[in-house]
Amino acid sequence: MTLLAPDTLWWDGGFVPGGLLSVLPSGCTPVAAGIPDRRLPGTLLPGLTDAHVHLALADLGTIRSGGITEVWDLGGFADPVPGVRYARQFLTAPGGYPSDRPWAPPGSSRFVHSPADGAEAVAEQTGASFIKVTLHTGGPLLSRPTVTAIADAAHAAGLPLIVHCEGPGTVETALAAGADLLAHTPWTSLLDDGVLRAAAAQTAWISTLDIHGWGTPTPACETAIANLRRFLSYGGKLHYGTDLGNGPLVPGINPREIRALQHTGLPPADILTAMTPSAATLPPTWIPTGLNLDPSHFADSLSTARPLPPP
Ligand SMILES: [Zn+2]
Repeated sequence: MTLLAPDTLWWDGGFVPGGLLSVLPSGCTPVAAGIPDRRLPGTLLPGLTDAHVHLALADLGTIRSGGITEVWDLGGFADPVPGVRYARQFLTAPGGYPSDRPWAPPGSSRFVHSPADGAEAVAEQTGASFIKVTLHTGGPLLSRPTVTAIADAAHAAGLPLIVHCEGPGTVETALAAGADLLAHTPWTSLLDDGVLRAAAAQTAWISTLDIHGWGTPTPACETAIANLRRFLSYGGKLHYGTDLGNGPLVPGINPREIRALQHTGLPPADILTAMTPSAATLPPTWIPTGLNLDPSHFADSLSTARPLPPP
């Protein structure tokens, strides 16, 4: 056990007065008293998670040195690495997205031909932490019974189902089938109130707002922000995620994603909550000059977060 004494400690939604952090290989917990092994300038906070990356298309070392502690690989069939949670293959309709995209690595999609085949496809995803299904219009789509069978098999294996929804009716299909997370904030149309309420009760959303325009305002980004604002107002749960590997995104903490989240009205504390779903089990992250919670400085301040260097 190592006891760290930073200038400030951010944990569990706020600064911990006089906070000391106990660090074990299995994770961290704040403690009230003790003799510190190491003093640090700045702020320590829980390890930050990007809940949507593609390691087949992005470099894990660069992501980690950019301040992200944990990543969720949401499809692409990369070789398992400790400390990464994997979806493994994209489960999709024969010929469906993303098998038709040039960036999709060979073998990264698993075509699902029927509900029975869906259960088999889930069983094949050895080592997966979740199951990922793509429903992307403009190409072949899985039927609702097949998505339901995949969801049932995932749940029977103790795995959440993450669905990529793009286009009319895809969010409704994901909800009816039993999805637990959406891989993106829906961006193709403003969702009906009833759909948003149902989504907020059933699913968590992974933000990925900056894939639309990469900092330049676009109609898709505005639609996504409007959907997310209402989803959150109905109590929906959010994960910070960037879809890193898809286009010119920042390989680490993405200040544009954070600013886009602020446009939904989320205060900095809630954004940090969305970035720390695995707080207790990860090593801490470090902001050498201290965390600035002023909304106009928050995104840039957080983007200077780094892994804690060895003593
Ligand atoms: Zn993606």
